[in-house]
Amino acid sequence: MSYDPSNIFAKILRSEIPAHKVYEDEVALVMMDIFPQSRGHVLVIPKAASRNLLDADPAALLAVLPLVQKIAKAVKQTTGADGIRLAQFNEAPAGQTVFHLHFHIIPVYEGVEVGGHGGPKADDAELAALAKSIAATL
Ligand code: 5GP
Repeated sequence: MSYDPSNIFAKILRSEIPAHKVYEDEVALVMMDIFPQSRGHVLVIPKAASRNLLDADPAALLAVLPLVQKIAKAVKQTTGADGIRLAQFNEAPAGQTVFHLHFHIIPVYEGVEVGGHGGPKADDAELAALAKSIAATL
C-alpha cells in the first residue's frame, strides 16, 4: 500500500489542522495525543512521508530516534511518570489507525492502568498546559 498524503497527521504537518504542539524541527513534529492512553501521551511524527516503519527511509529513522529519546526523557520528567512505554503500530491489523509513521510516548504511572488505544478525547486546556510544560522541560 502506498502513502496517502490526505491522512490527518500529514494535514497537521501542513498546518491545515491544529495540534497541541510540543516541539518542531526539520526532522519531526511532536504533539499531544488528543485521545491519550495516559496523562502526557505524546506523538513524535517524522516529517519524512511514510505509512509506517515498514516503508520508512532508514535515514529518516536514524534521524528521529535521538528525538524520541529526548522527548521521552522530557515527558517522564515533566509528568513524574514512573516509566515510559514506546509504541508504534504497522498496518491496521496491528492497531495502526493513522497511516503516517509516528511513535507513541506513553507515560506509565505505578499502580495506574494504561488506557486502551482509542480512548476518550482529553480536555483541550489540559493538553495545552501539558504541551507547554513538556516544551519548557526540553
Ligand atoms: P495509531 O493508531 O495510528 O498508532 O495512532 C494514532 C494516534 O493518533 C492515536 O493514538 C489517536 O489517539 C491519535 N489521533 C487521532 N487523531 C488525532 C488528531 O486529530 N490529533 C491528535 N493530536 N492525535 C490524534
